[in-house]
Amino acid sequence: MSESFSVSVMSDGFCVGSVKTITHISEDNLNKAFLGIDAEVNRLQVAFTKLKSRLQGLSEKTKQEAGAEAAEIFETHVMICEDPEFYDESLKAIAEKKINAELAVVKIADHLIETMKSMDNDYMNQRANDFNDLKKQLLQFLTNPDETDTKNHSQEKFILAGYDITPSELMSVDKNLLLGLISQVGGSTSHTAILAKNLQIPAVFEFSNFQALNKKFVAIDTDKKRILLEPTDIEIQEIKTKSEKAEKENQRLEKFLNLDSKTLDGFLVNLESNIASVEDLYLTEKFNSKGIGLFRTEFLYMKSTSAPNESEQFKNYKTILEHQKPHSVVIRTLDAGGDKHIDYLKIPKEDNPFLGFRAIRYCLQNLDIFKTQIKALLKASAFGNLRIMFPMISCVEEVIAAKKITFEVASKLTNKIINDDKTFKENFSVELGIMIETPAAVILSSQLAKHVDFFSIGTNDLSQYTCAADRTNKSVQYLTSVYHPAVLNSIIQTVENSRKVKKDFSIGICGNLAAESSLTALWVGLGINHLSMNPTAILKVKEKLLNLSQAKCVGLVEQIKASETNTDVEKILN
Ligand code: PEP
Ligand code: MG
Repeated sequence: MSESFSVSVMSDGFCVGSVKTITHISEDNLNKAFLGIDAEVNRLQVAFTKLKSRLQGLSEKTKQEAGAEAAEIFETHVMICEDPEFYDESLKAIAEKKINAELAVVKIADHLIETMKSMDNDYMNQRANDFNDLKKQLLQFLTNPDETDTKNHSQEKFILAGYDITPSELMSVDKNLLLGLISQVGGSTSHTAILAKNLQIPAVFEFSNFQALNKKFVAIDTDKKRILLEPTDIEIQEIKTKSEKAEKENQRLEKFLNLDSKTLDGFLVNLESNIASVEDLYLTEKFNSKGIGLFRTEFLYMKSTSAPNESEQFKNYKTILEHQKPHSVVIRTLDAGGDKHIDYLKIPKEDNPFLGFRAIRYCLQNLDIFKTQIKALLKASAFGNLRIMFPMISCVEEVIAAKKITFEVASKLTNKIINDDKTFKENFSVELGIMIETPAAVILSSQLAKHVDFFSIGTNDLSQYTCAADRTNKSVQYLTSVYHPAVLNSIIQTVENSRKVKKDFSIGICGNLAAESSLTALWVGLGINHLSMNPTAILKVKEKLLNLSQAKCVGLVEQIKASETNTDVEKILN
């Protein structure tokens, strides 16, 4: 028997493979003590030398395995390392500013990246990404020269492990090679978990010593909530059998692929996909979802080293809208902050980032970024059925402000005066909606409904804010039970309030509770007409839906209202 460790689950699945650990470059690394000019210069020279020799090795290997053209990227990277504007200037910065090697690299590389990004030229944008890549590799050599980097140049599949694998770190890994993920800290509704589900890879957290796993052979088994260190042949076989069983279950569900998502008595619920990138669109085909209920655009911002420009955004939005036509696509404006850290946005470090400067709060104070996104969205709206959604709304003023900016951008685009809903609708067939994910938005739902075309309930944040339980903190996960009566009552209240204002008001759910098939009956009872989820969950929810009758589900609402505990709710629903 191998050594086994219990863990918590972010994304279900099974895998076996060798582990690569990731170095997290934190501010503490950057603020390390200054060891003197000579010592820092030497450290940086050694790091550059090591990096160049790695790149040369990779270039040779790639030439042999994939041809000269494929190897060019590494040769370019070697040249960048020799570029005096990068190499000489970094060394000079140490001497002139008396800063450590890490800070010198960051300062010089960031300056070059900014310059290249501002050129608005695809080639230069790509070079900026190269600089960013090299900056990260240099920091890795400076911080922990012996650790493996996450760019798997060997093309071998691997399990990624780290202290707190962030969404941006996950986004920078080659997904085709990624078998699974082990994070020391995390949460089941964290954004890393959401991405892992979209990638259909097993992901776990709460493993206390991730460094010990580097280069080790490990199995992830989310069924038993454990990882196995150096599993035996028998254990590997057991994992493979489970994986095959899961595959069979997926095949069983395929029979629902082409059925309409209606209850026995004909109530239609649009089962839509949550996506994080254009690349996820293939999942919508695989699971035959009709429309996108949430495109988390922040991941587009995370992929690059500065905010994507209008044309880059336009290209992405247009592709998604065209792909999904005639179905609707909800594109959410930038929801940065919380656990979605984006370096270049320079959101100050906060003690409570989930309660801080995030999402619409950030956008309303950073109008260049916000207006660029709105402009790209409105331009792309000609190519499909667009619904724009503003995240983290906590008061009516925020909605009014976000709409005002949207109208301003719309006016510039059309050269007409657009300053109210009516003129906006005459010029753009775009719906404007908001996320309901704060208790304030629930309480104000009747007022908010007057200002927008639709609501989408973000149950991940709504749960954490309602129960005051950080969604990335394992110790308080018991408070984020899917059956928590407070959260379910908030949803009921939102639906009832808004439908009193507008009878057929469009309400969806796009947080993880949409994918929880034990709750589908309640959503049907409430008359919720859009459920958007990780596409991999759609067929299971559809199977449930096909066996329900809305007339019978309506009665559940009053029963849930009267429930006291999670267990009461669970009993009613099961
Ligand atoms: C939510 O909060 O439920 C939601 C869908 O948004 P996100 O998970 O991206 O915060
Ligand atoms: Mg949210």
